[in-house]
Amino acid sequence: MEHTTLLKDYQCINCGMQTGEMVLNLKDHYLTGEDYLIVRCSKCHLLQTHPRPSYDKIGFYYASEKYISHSAKHESLFSKVYGLVQTINFSSKYRFAIRDRRAGAILDIGCGNGAMLNHFVKKGWSGTGIEPGDSARNIAKSEYKLNVFDETKLAEFEDKSFDVITLWHVLEHVYNLHERLAEIKRLLKSDGTLVLALPNPRSFDAQFYGAHWAAYDVPRHLYHFTPEIIEKIMLDYGLKLQDTRTLWFDSYYVSLLSEEYLGSGFLGKIRAIMIGGYSNLISLVKRNRGSSQMYRFKF
Ligand SMILES: [Zn+2]
Repeated sequence: MEHTTLLKDYQCINCGMQTGEMVLNLKDHYLTGEDYLIVRCSKCHLLQTHPRPSYDKIGFYYASEKYISHSAKHESLFSKVYGLVQTINFSSKYRFAIRDRRAGAILDIGCGNGAMLNHFVKKGWSGTGIEPGDSARNIAKSEYKLNVFDETKLAEFEDKSFDVITLWHVLEHVYNLHERLAEIKRLLKSDGTLVLALPNPRSFDAQFYGAHWAAYDVPRHLYHFTPEIIEKIMLDYGLKLQDTRTLWFDSYYVSLLSEEYLGSGFLGKIRAIMIGGYSNLISLVKRNRGSSQMYRFKF
């Protein structure tokens, strides 16, 4: 039975529908403690954060120093482990993204401090980055000497400029989703590859932690793409799914953070490792159940 509710000011960004089912009631555990809903569109079934912060207020939710993906410092033990894991992650992300392609032009949208983009550049790729955050962009420029611009630059690139476009845990943050996807379609070469990494609300750790699942990360994550929905959305842009792969470390990282939000102490950390491991085990057996997944698309 479908419980569809008309929510005040709710409109699906994907299909325009104004009714949706409330799936979860949750908080911004990371920064403000504010309450949000996860709503499933009654027509296209996309999960969205409700209410959506207004465009001019969204920067506020990223203001904290804690936003680890944009920080190049590795001070605490947690951050050190994260840094080490990230390095291991880079090569699997790289291999998945390029497959049998020779080095060409890559555009990394939402490149953060540029560490992943720099990995491509070191392998001989011509790299360009887009990053809306000033401090992360400046690190990418000063630390890695990368060509990184703010989002306004996207409109200036010529059609079909890039062999590979990557968005590593970025599309869920993009405010004007369809505008951005149309731009990506325009910028990608006919034989180009689009690579996305996204948290997966269908994973075991997502189901286990529910409203405390750290990868909901509301209101910074505006959408919560299931593998089925992202495949459908990209098909609207003529991009066909080629392959998916689980990002094995994300289940542990997200579970540890979820336990932190639950305030469950040392035993919670032990449980997080078990849940992370179990989530990975399930994704080995069942397709599209990884905590976070990479997706590769081509025209
Ligand atoms: Zn919809």
